[in-house]
Amino acid sequence: MTTDTDSTGGDVRLTGISKTYGSFTAVHPLDLTIPQGSFFALLGASGCGKTTTLRMIAGLEDPTTGTVRLGGRDVTDLPPYKRPVNTVFQSYALFPHLSIYENVAFGLRRRGVKSVRKQVGEMLDLVQLGDRAQQRPHQLSGGQQQRVAVARALINHPQVLLLDEPLGALDLKLRRQMQLELKRIQTEVGITFVHVTHDQEEAMTMADQVAVMNGGRVEQLGAPADLYENPGTTFVANFLGTSNLITAGIVESSAEDLVVSAGGGKLKLPAARCRAATAPGGSLLVGVRPEKISLAHADDAAGIPEGRNRITGRITASSFIGVSTQYVVDGPAGSGLQVYEQNVERDSRLAPGAEVVLHWNPAHTFGLDAGQAIDAGTQKVEDAA
Ligand code: ATP
Repeated sequence: MTTDTDSTGGDVRLTGISKTYGSFTAVHPLDLTIPQGSFFALLGASGCGKTTTLRMIAGLEDPTTGTVRLGGRDVTDLPPYKRPVNTVFQSYALFPHLSIYENVAFGLRRRGVKSVRKQVGEMLDLVQLGDRAQQRPHQLSGGQQQRVAVARALINHPQVLLLDEPLGALDLKLRRQMQLELKRIQTEVGITFVHVTHDQEEAMTMADQVAVMNGGRVEQLGAPADLYENPGTTFVANFLGTSNLITAGIVESSAEDLVVSAGGGKLKLPAARCRAATAPGGSLLVGVRPEKISLAHADDAAGIPEGRNRITGRITASSFIGVSTQYVVDGPAGSGLQVYEQNVERDSRLAPGAEVVLHWNPAHTFGLDAGQAIDAGTQKVEDAA
């Protein structure tokens, strides 16, 4: 066993960690480093293994293989209460008969700390509940109760705070407020937060780094904007927002660009954004996000600037959702293509039935391996087998 002064600092380091239940593998051997002081999200659909991973960090679940290191120290065999971590769950589990003040003071009192006033006061200020100290949990809203739960955990000065779907019980508006609030708290205290969620918007709002999990594996790890702009797999492309994925044949490839054919037309994409083999004659999936695409009525096609990627189609559906209008377009390159247009100046001709041209900057195009077009459900079944 090494010490806290190890060169890995305060990182959480998982090495070859896995979990099997009988013949079912919930988490495949996983190597993951969570940098000290970061807000890290484990993101994925129900059953992908994110909670199991979190529980192995907490010590609530024994790994089948591998090690957990916190700040350079091997804690794999330590029980939860001996690890420098605290967990906040979806159910706040506050003591109903104690005041907010006493709920927050609980960890200190249990450790025999005599003078708690200053620390409890600081924690209540941190979560902006100083004026509620003498109330009971039932007098607080769900979001306020969750802030008490966070204060109660942070007062123990954990090295890592683990959050297991902490906002799951809140309504959407409160969730959004609490996401910003948790991010503020994490920035202020500067300790590592590891947050489990199935909500991609939540992960992207709060986390510096997101690990997208699927079928017990991390599919991709990165900063939110990077994952969104450069998804590495079809799963990530569709789990983080919406992607149009068009099957295309590779016509030409150079160090800078690829030219591909789809639905009788040619499209261009940067070679650097391509995660597939690029040899001419092969095929790949061309991806573009719906908000990167502009829509022109076919009568105005001549006015589309040179150098844009373009494909033709017909609008099959449109929905006005306030800030934008979302169109569904079918064409020779693919059906069910999605386009989001900001509602600035709406063209009334862009209605179901209209012939249109979709056009976008080639720089916003990414390429994925056409062979890995599996969905989460398929992979999970394979893993379970
Ligand atoms: P959710 O968001 O629904 O909690 P999750 O991604 O956190 O999902 P886990 O709770 O980590 O998923 O579970 C991963 C897989 O392991 C699931 O298929 C689950 O059914 C299975 N699993 C978890 N705990 C056990 C257990 N004690 N025994 C058997 N299977 C389990």
